[in-house]
Amino acid sequence: MSDNCLFCKISKGEIPSDKLYEDDEIFVFRDIAPQAPVHFLVIPKKHISGPSALAPQDEQLIGRMMRVGNEVAKREGVEQYRVVFNNGEQAGQTVFHIHMHIFGGRSMTWPPG
Ligand code: 5GP
Ligand code: ZN
Repeated sequence: MSDNCLFCKISKGEIPSDKLYEDDEIFVFRDIAPQAPVHFLVIPKKHISGPSALAPQDEQLIGRMMRVGNEVAKREGVEQYRVVFNNGEQAGQTVFHIHMHIFGGRSMTWPPG
């Protein structure tokens, strides 16, 4: 837990969210400003500021996030989706607790803006 981290507070239930999945390591909830019909965030409960802060011991956790995200996407009715990790402000990161965006339910353009 990092003091004043929004996503630490959400994963602890201190700030309400539309939760889709939770286990001892991972928390999944809908994005408050969805950019697609299905748009949710997969986060570790452990505070990691972003992809560039990952340590070797986090590798399995990140792998689990992808597998959990895929299961939640299926449950939400999307078999095809986009996965995004923003790393740093220039890339669009606004919350500095690592999160995997999963977007689905519409056609996507490439490259992203
Ligand atoms: P980033 O821009 O850092 O990659 O993504 C942060 C995401 O968190 C944004 O898509 C934003 O809409 C979402 N977000 C920000 N504050 C909240 C909140 O309080 N609740 C939820 N559910 N999502 C949030
Ligand atoms: Zn945090």
